[in-house]
Amino acid sequence: MKEKYLVINAGSSSLKFSLYTMPEAKEIVNGLVERIGNEDSCYTLKYDGKKQEKNKVIMNHTEAVKTMLEELLANNFISDINEIKGVGHRVLHGAEIYKESTLINEETLRNLEGLVKFGPLHLPGAIAGIKSMMQYLDVPQVAVFDTSFHNTIPEENYRYAVPEEFYTQDGVRKYGFHGTSYRYITKEMQKRYEKEDVNLIICHVGSGASMCCVKDGKSYDTTMGLTPLAGLIMGTRSGDIDPSIIEYICKERNLTVSEVTNILNKKSGLLGIAGKNDNRDLESARKNGDKKATLALEMLKNSIEKYIGQYYIELKGKVDAIVFTAGIGENAISLRESIINDISVPLNIKLNKEMNDNISRRSAYQGGKISTPDSSIEVLVLPTNEEYMILKDTYEISKKIEEKIQEETNKKVLKLN
Ligand code: ADP
Repeated sequence: MKEKYLVINAGSSSLKFSLYTMPEAKEIVNGLVERIGNEDSCYTLKYDGKKQEKNKVIMNHTEAVKTMLEELLANNFISDINEIKGVGHRVLHGAEIYKESTLINEETLRNLEGLVKFGPLHLPGAIAGIKSMMQYLDVPQVAVFDTSFHNTIPEENYRYAVPEEFYTQDGVRKYGFHGTSYRYITKEMQKRYEKEDVNLIICHVGSGASMCCVKDGKSYDTTMGLTPLAGLIMGTRSGDIDPSIIEYICKERNLTVSEVTNILNKKSGLLGIAGKNDNRDLESARKNGDKKATLALEMLKNSIEKYIGQYYIELKGKVDAIVFTAGIGENAISLRESIINDISVPLNIKLNKEMNDNISRRSAYQGGKISTPDSSIEVLVLPTNEEYMILKDTYEISKKIEEKIQEETNKKVLKLN
């Protein structure tokens, strides 16, 4: 019988899951439970090109996990829950404690509770997802952190210029996110160039967006900070702003710091500028002459270009590739085109327009090179695969535990003999 592994991404009101067979990493089914805690909650299953959608009142994460397992059984994706040999969880923040993926035990859970202050919007959902899975499955559960890849960032890049005790006592530093995506892209590029020490500028532009400067195959700098609010302009997040804006708006509008922070996370970015946060809606609005949409897309483009310039200098001009990934990076033809045209002269890069125009329309989409052969730096589009990295880490850690248990059993048998 094939071994099966689950990958879970639990948010405050949603739970995404994918079930794979290993070691071939073949996805059998994926699904999403949405609006957990609301009367109108529902869930979706996708497999073999089919989609099932059902409404069901799901009041908490435990009910969401129960529903997911019941559906996996009812649809014969598993014949018994013991077929699932391990579960990988996407976890937003590991702070300085978790520099790599880790097996979850009571201590891990306690540590994660202590880290909620760093990720109040995301971590409670992830913890609820983990605890719920643990109620049903007695198998290795692994936490894969969005922050871990960035543990190689040097101190001069991760410290903020604030009093030292903010860092030493309160943990205020740049942690960076989307690390699982950057790790995947870096590994792919290491394979492409057949060397470990690749230098890359990676643009992970989705509704959440960030960039990473990879030096010698390791994260050297990134745009997000203590939380995912910093850096690029995003769908609903402001990205970098003058920190004094917070106090100023609190006073002007009689709001609390929490209220303003919430606005900076959920009502700012492209949404704040143009009233729309989906890149496709913005592109079609721009075509229809919508000035706000044009401004929002221009500001997004500028924020990416500024960091390309910064990272080019941080890498002292020794850049193997600029890589675009995630929803917008993989699909937004016009954004890529205007960025490459803008950086063309200073960085000696020319756009391969035909490749750029066609890359996202290919059915078996594998990414590809969108710069011309005579460019000094390759520009690539590469679909990211965070789930695969979570799956791989979970499989490897689960196998190690299995081997350990086997060793212990063998020792006991030897003693008995
Ligand atoms: P996240 O994982 O952060 O939620 P995604 O990586 O899924 O986000 O990216 C979502 C963004 O990608 C949306 O703004 C969406 O408009 C954009 N996007 C997806 N497909 C296309 C497309 N074909 N053309 C342009 N933008 C697209």
